[in-house]
Amino acid sequence: MNVPELFGSNVFNRQVMQDKLPKDIYKSLSKTIDEGAPLDMGVANVVANAMKDWAVEKGATHFTHWFQPMTGITAEKHDSFISPTKDGKVIMEFSGKELVVGEPDASSFPSGGVRATFEARGYTAWDPTSYAFVKDGTLYIPTAFFSYSGEVLDKKTPLLKSMEALNKQALRILRLFGNKTAKRVFSTVGAEQEYFLVDKQVYLKRKDLIYTGRTLFGAKPPKGQELEDHYFGAIKTRVSAYMKDLDEELWKLGILAKTKHNEVAPAQHELAPIFTSTNVASDQNQLVMETMKRVAAKHGLVCLLHEKPFAGINGSGKHNNWSMSTDTGLNLLDPGSTPAENGQFMVFLTAVIKAVNLHQDLLRLSVASAGNDHRLGANEAPPAIVSVFLGEELEAVIKALEKDEKYSGKGKKIMKLGVDTLPDLPKDTTDRNRTSPFAFTGNKFEFRMVGSSFSLAGPNIVINTAVADVLREFADQLEGAADFNAALHDLVADTIKENKRIIFNGNNYSEEWAKEAKKRGLLNLKNSAEALPHFADKKNIELFERNGVFTAREVETRTEIMLENYSKVLTIEALTMLEMARRDIYPAVNAYIDSLCATVRSKKKADESLKCGAEQRLIAKLTAYSEEMFDGTDELEALLADAKNCKDAKTEAVFFAEKVLPVMEKIRSCADACEGLVSGQYWPLPTYGELLFSV
Ligand code: ADP
Ligand code: MG
Repeated sequence: MNVPELFGSNVFNRQVMQDKLPKDIYKSLSKTIDEGAPLDMGVANVVANAMKDWAVEKGATHFTHWFQPMTGITAEKHDSFISPTKDGKVIMEFSGKELVVGEPDASSFPSGGVRATFEARGYTAWDPTSYAFVKDGTLYIPTAFFSYSGEVLDKKTPLLKSMEALNKQALRILRLFGNKTAKRVFSTVGAEQEYFLVDKQVYLKRKDLIYTGRTLFGAKPPKGQELEDHYFGAIKTRVSAYMKDLDEELWKLGILAKTKHNEVAPAQHELAPIFTSTNVASDQNQLVMETMKRVAAKHGLVCLLHEKPFAGINGSGKHNNWSMSTDTGLNLLDPGSTPAENGQFMVFLTAVIKAVNLHQDLLRLSVASAGNDHRLGANEAPPAIVSVFLGEELEAVIKALEKDEKYSGKGKKIMKLGVDTLPDLPKDTTDRNRTSPFAFTGNKFEFRMVGSSFSLAGPNIVINTAVADVLREFADQLEGAADFNAALHDLVADTIKENKRIIFNGNNYSEEWAKEAKKRGLLNLKNSAEALPHFADKKNIELFERNGVFTAREVETRTEIMLENYSKVLTIEALTMLEMARRDIYPAVNAYIDSLCATVRSKKKADESLKCGAEQRLIAKLTAYSEEMFDGTDELEALLADAKNCKDAKTEAVFFAEKVLPVMEKIRSCADACEGLVSGQYWPLPTYGELLFSV
């Protein structure tokens, strides 16, 4: 395999554009891509035609406007290139208009009431900053999705807007430090994607996995992850073949798949691409998730992207490595080596710290979902409390700056920002803190709370906007300063003083931290029902409006959609649970009890004096557990009926979190207790052991 040749072979990238487009057209399109210049229809026509010819060469017969509605996944409707001719034949055609705008029927996508069905029209608009590509005989055109009245209906548009806000404010700061060459600043993301692989035949016997993506029942297997022998362990042949195929598919799509390894839990793995612009990273992560599933099917496997497919076994996340970069390739969270570079670094660093402190609520709720609720705070993933990890060295620098104290690391003098250089910060991985939700890792921050099935858009809209907002404030302050270095020093020192409560370098899993965080006044939003409604708090609506990312109405409708989604997911889980408990598990337990009774009868028949103690005890235990489980199902059914009477989405979400989930837990624990007692021949579901160790 020639990887350089394979890489990007199905992508209409710069190289292809340069090859296939006339010079002036290429220049014009480049201006649109790099600087957001509007695209002339004449240019669009030429681009569309070249794109179509290239795609047809790659075997494409159709094109699609690929978009990201608020379902969190992608949507596509395919149109063929055919156009009839007078002689009853067809030619392949694709116009600039077809490239630039599309009009899918939008009525069946979640909109939170923004778009009533009578105004069903939705539009998709080409996003030229993310390359088009060919997949399965179709030309995919990344697009933004909005309604007839201009309201945004997707996740890409606000992400682009948040990047624009960040660009504007970050450039102001750069100019203050004398940078005249950078034309754009954009955020960058590298997302480490965790996933599970299970055997398809085993999977097909689990309705819970099929309907909900996670197991609703399942007793702990004799072996889980306690030996820690899976992490970075040798990759099994079948998994290795899968990973090889996956890499190839991703490379063809121009995705920089770089790292792959086994994760902590059995059957759990990770893939990390090399970072890129957030918008592209977000599109590509959608492709990564989709390709993971598609390739798995070819190998007789199923890829699980749920945050918590197995209780008691580590769940899956998506570590969001985030930084800011100029178009000239300068990483703004890289400390650099000169006093000026260090000063600039400290401004961007403290801006992030302040943004996280001010908007803990938004970061928390940007990763809230029914699935991720099982993970956050479960001593394997970050807790629900948001805090920032800086590492010892940087923490010491920050403390010295805050207090104007001598910095002990270097020369023992008071460090003046903009004048002195920072001490070398360790870039290696030694003092990584794996428990921190938001960790500085040398030249980027790693937001570890994101769930494995999430779109990258949501969390990054929040990070970009929050940081942009602080940078605006900083730029306002610094632009008016008489003595720049003095103002810089004060700004950084004051920012640290005011926001230091968010910095925590210790063990985030410990109980002491929960107590300490409470003392510090940090938020601890335990579940989605508690977290999500904060999206529409006044502070947050103002933040998004001020930065041109969301209107108040868009924030409100999105809150509604997320809350409704939470309740819908739990409804599906509850209904699946009812079906499995009543139709599969209860009958199986009874059949086994029946066989035990038969055993007792035949033993007694053989010898009246036999006690049959084991059978009697088993019968009693199983009867007790299964009755409790059955009562639970009645309770659950009644609760689901009650849920329909909740007056609004928030009340309903709280109802599910507080009333429905505990009953589901009870049903599960009774069923799992039965699983431990019922003969394997009678148990209707593959066990955790079979699921986790079958590949
Ligand atoms: P880990 O030990 O957590 O796997 P790595 O250094 O391998 O850490 O990086 C993990 C991810 O971070 C990769 O996807 C990598 O491309 C990404 N990354 C590195 N630098 C940046 C950056 N400046 N901005 C965004 N992501 C980055
Ligand atoms: Mg990581």
